[in-house]
Order: sequence, then structure tokens, then C-alpha cells
Amino acid sequence: MTFWYVVAFIFGINIGSFLNVAIWRLPRGGSIAAPQWSYCPRCEHRLGALDLIPVLSFLALGRKCRYCNAPISWRYPSIELLTGLLFVAVVWRDRATIDSIFDCLFIAALVCVFFIDLEHFVIPDGLNVLAVLIGVAHNVTNIALGRPGQMTHVAGLPMPVSIAGALGYAAVIYSIGLLSYIWFTAIVGKRKGPLSAGWDYLKENVLDWLWIALYYLGAVIPGLRKRIPEPEPLEGITAEEIESDEDMSGMGGGDGKLAAAIGANLGFMLAFQSFVWSIFIGTAWGLITMALQRRKLTGRTAIPFGPSMVLGVLVAMFFGPAILAWYYNAFIRPILNAPAAPPVTPGSAPSTGAPETMVPTGGHGNKTLGALVPNSAAVRMCLAAINQMQTVPNRISAPAPASLL
Ligand SMILES: [Zn+2]
Repeated sequence: MTFWYVVAFIFGINIGSFLNVAIWRLPRGGSIAAPQWSYCPRCEHRLGALDLIPVLSFLALGRKCRYCNAPISWRYPSIELLTGLLFVAVVWRDRATIDSIFDCLFIAALVCVFFIDLEHFVIPDGLNVLAVLIGVAHNVTNIALGRPGQMTHVAGLPMPVSIAGALGYAAVIYSIGLLSYIWFTAIVGKRKGPLSAGWDYLKENVLDWLWIALYYLGAVIPGLRKRIPEPEPLEGITAEEIESDEDMSGMGGGDGKLAAAIGANLGFMLAFQSFVWSIFIGTAWGLITMALQRRKLTGRTAIPFGPSMVLGVLVAMFFGPAILAWYYNAFIRPILNAPAAPPVTPGSAPSTGAPETMVPTGGHGNKTLGALVPNSAAVRMCLAAINQMQTVPNRISAPAPASLL
């Protein structure tokens, strides 16, 4: 495995170097593809191969641009190192499997989302669309490989887990966005009736999705692109602008699109778990911001939720099953007098894979946990989440729920 960790790390710091470019250019309306070379953001001198070795160039050049002596931000080598370490973590979780490649791509998109949203209060649509496609491609690959747990049922209809996850998590975030929009504009602001506020919110977000879908379909269907106006270049906004705009409240549309991207990659169960973590993280973030700025946190304090969602994903992906197994063993198992959850070992479970409990399994023996514990939704969700990181022989089998939602 050490060999694969080294490969992942070297691959990661190089991808990180590319992400630095994306994080700089995307929110400034630039293209990742043009110009094809990297340049110093101050003197715009084209950088040579020796200037572009991840981390090492930064140290060798004495933290300065070779051409204009402008100091290079610590952020560049930090993002390279961070990406390298995250890729190692992915290989620890997935082993050297095809899943690790898809998960590394997903994590790379999340690194961009984290730093762009943090600085500019915006998540470029292209990143979310890309991440959704990564999740769907991962799912489709696993279906083609005949791996279990790649399909689920929503309201009785079979559906790939990536689609169900995207729709499910997006629905969670948009519901919160809708309610908070109605709260701020209709109940508190009294500028609209609650129904018309709700209608406005839905209309705006549905149109948003429609335009994005048409625009990116235009990349595949040439005739379409000419008819679709290019989306306005995303402009970042400042915290002050958000706080003074009364119509802007709660979770932004960008968070809903990010939720779709996360759900497509994690499946609904793990995505929902990541949401719970991001609520904790976002709250702590708000309290810390409040303490640092020495002011009262109000409904109008702008804190981007995207970075919390990204951190929630990292907790859920890397520690979630272990935390849930601990919780299950400590609190749920004694009450139900059920067997202990097996130790959580990172393994070859497909990431987009719905937990095994999502598909009819036909039973893995008689004395399965599922046969012993009541068929309650809470226990099923808990077992399902623990199962997500288990190698197949370790999985706990439980009765399949009729549908996901
Ligand atoms: Zn320079």
C-alpha cells in the first residue's frame, strides 16, 4: 500500500498545483484552458517548468516570483500539500481501486469549491456540474462492473444511487432555502405574502437549473449552444453586499447545486450524514466568526455555507462510519440487546454505493443483525451508514426498505 500512498501524494500535489490555477481564474471569469500556461498574477510572466514543481519551487525560489520578486502566497504550496494529503486519505479509504480515482476527482472539485466560496461567496456552476458528472460516471462504472448496491428505489421506481443522492440532498438544502426565504421576506420582512415568496424562490431556482442544464447540454449538442446565452460571468460578492441585500437570505442557490454534486458522489445516506456534520461545523464557524469580529451574530451575518458542506463531506467520508459504529455500539445496541457492529475498516465498498441494505440481499445467513433488531427507520439508517465503509464480508445485513424517500 505504501507504494500507492506515494503515487497518490505525488499525483495529489500536482493536481493541487492545477487547482491553484482554477481557484484563481474561475471566480474571475477566466478559463482554465486559456491561456494554457501558468503565469505570475502580478507580472504575468509565463512560468517555466522549474517554477511549477509543486511545493519545491516555492521553497527553492525563496517564496518569491523569479521574474518580478513579488512574494508568492503561502496558499499555493498549502493547497498543493492539502490535495496531496487528501488523495492519500482517499487511497486509505478506498484502497487502490477504481473508486479512488473517482473520489480523488470529486475531492479535487471540493477543494476548489471550498477556497472559492470562502473568498468570493460564490460557487461556480461549472464546478458543481462537473462534480455531478463525476458522481454519475462513478455510479455508471460500478453498474457496468456489476457491483452491488448501485441502484435504489425512490417511490417504487428503480433509480441509480447517484441520481437519488443528488435529488435527495438537493431537496434537503432547497427546502431549507425555501423556508428561510419565506421567513425573511414574508414573515419578518413583510415585503411579500408567504405564497408569492415561495413561488418566487421556486421559480428562480428551477429556471436556474434549467438554464444550466441547457447551457451544458449545448456543449454536447452544437446547435443548442448558439441559442443559449452564455451565463453571466460569476461575480463574487462581499459579505457587506450580502448583508445589505434584504432579498438574500439563508442558503444560496449555490448550496443547493453543491448538494446535488455531493449527493451524486456519496449517495443519499452518506450525503445526509455529511449535512448533519456541516450543520455542526457551520454553527461553530458562525460562533467563531462572531467572536473574532466582536459582534452579535444576526440573521444578516454572511457566512458561506459551502465550506462547511465541504468539511462535512470530509468528516462523513473518512470518519463517519467509525463514529456511527461507535454511537451504535454505545447507545443503540444495549437498548436493543443486538450484536455489536463489526469493527470499521476502510475497504473496497463503492463510495457511491448505496448501503447494502438498500437492495434486497436475500440474506447473508440466519443470525444477521437485521433479523434481530426491529425494522425501524432509525436503526436501518444507522446500520446503512455503518455499512458504507465496510468490506463486503463485514457488512451487516438488514431488511431492505421499500424505498429511499
Ligand atoms: Zn512575477
